[in-house]
Amino acid sequence: MKISPLYYHKTTSFVNRFPGFFRLFTAKSKIPQKHQNKLFFAGFFVAKCKMNWYNGNNQNRKVCAVMNCLEQKILTDGVVKEGNVLKVDSFLNHQMDITLMEEIGKEFYRRFQHKPINKILTIEASGIAIAFAVAQQFRVPLLFAKKSKSINIAGDTYVAEVESFTHKNRNTVIVSKQFLSEEDHVLIVDDFLANGCALQGLISIVDQAGGTVEGIGIAVEKGFQVGGQIIRNLGYQLESLAIVDAMDHKTGSITLRGVR
Ligand code: 5GP
Repeated sequence: MKISPLYYHKTTSFVNRFPGFFRLFTAKSKIPQKHQNKLFFAGFFVAKCKMNWYNGNNQNRKVCAVMNCLEQKILTDGVVKEGNVLKVDSFLNHQMDITLMEEIGKEFYRRFQHKPINKILTIEASGIAIAFAVAQQFRVPLLFAKKSKSINIAGDTYVAEVESFTHKNRNTVIVSKQFLSEEDHVLIVDDFLANGCALQGLISIVDQAGGTVEGIGIAVEKGFQVGGQIIRNLGYQLESLAIVDAMDHKTGSITLRGVR
C-alpha cells in the first residue's frame, strides 16, 4: 500500500507543531508556570508517541510492498517447466535482482531477529546468494554445505546424502567440522523448498555437530509438494516468503497463496 506524500506531510507537520500548540494553549490559560512545564512535556511525549506509531506503521507497509515484489516477480518473470520446476533465472538464481535480495535478507532478519542466531547455513549453489543477504543483516558468518564428488571423505567433515530435486541425482554434501559445533545456533536458508530433502540434509548436519536449528527461511515454497509439511511437522519455525499453491507448465499459470 502506498502512503501519499500529502498524508505523510500532514502527519509530520501536525506532530512537529503539536508541542507548540500545547505551549500556546497552556500559556494563555491560568495554569501556574510549574504545571505548564509538566503539561508541555506531557504534550511533547504524546506527539513523539504518535510519530513513532506512524513510522512503525509505515515501516511495516514498506516490508509488505517488498514481499509483494517477490510475488510479483514470480508471477511476471517465473517460468513453469515440466516436472514441477519453476524457473526464476532472471531474478533469483542465475541473474540476481540485488535490491530484491537485500530486501529478502531484511525480511528474514525481521522474522528471526529475536532468536540467538550466530550462523547462516545453506547448500551450494543457489542458496548462497540469499544466505549472503541474510548473513549480512545478522552480521554473522555464512556457511554453505558443499557438494562433494569424493567417495572417500575424511573424518573431519559432517556428511549428508541429498537427493537433488532439479537434477534427479543424489549428492553427498559436506561441511567441515571446523566451522560448526554444539555452540552454534543456526538459521538454515534456501531458495526453494520442494520435497524437503535439501533441508533434511542440512538439519542432519547441524544435528551431527550438536548445534541448534533456530529456524528455516525459504524464498519460494512449493506448497503443493510435501517438504513444507514434513519440516513443520518436525517442529521447526519455517518461514516462506512466497508459497506457490499450483502451477501448470502447459498454460504457464502460477497460483500464489494469498494472492488473487
Ligand atoms: P527439495 O530438496 O526440497 O526437494 O528441493 C529443494 C532444492 O531443489 C533447492 O535447493 C532448489 O535449489 C531446488 N529446487 C527445488 N524445486 C525447484 C524449482 O521449482 N525451481 C528451482 N529453480 N529450483 C528448485
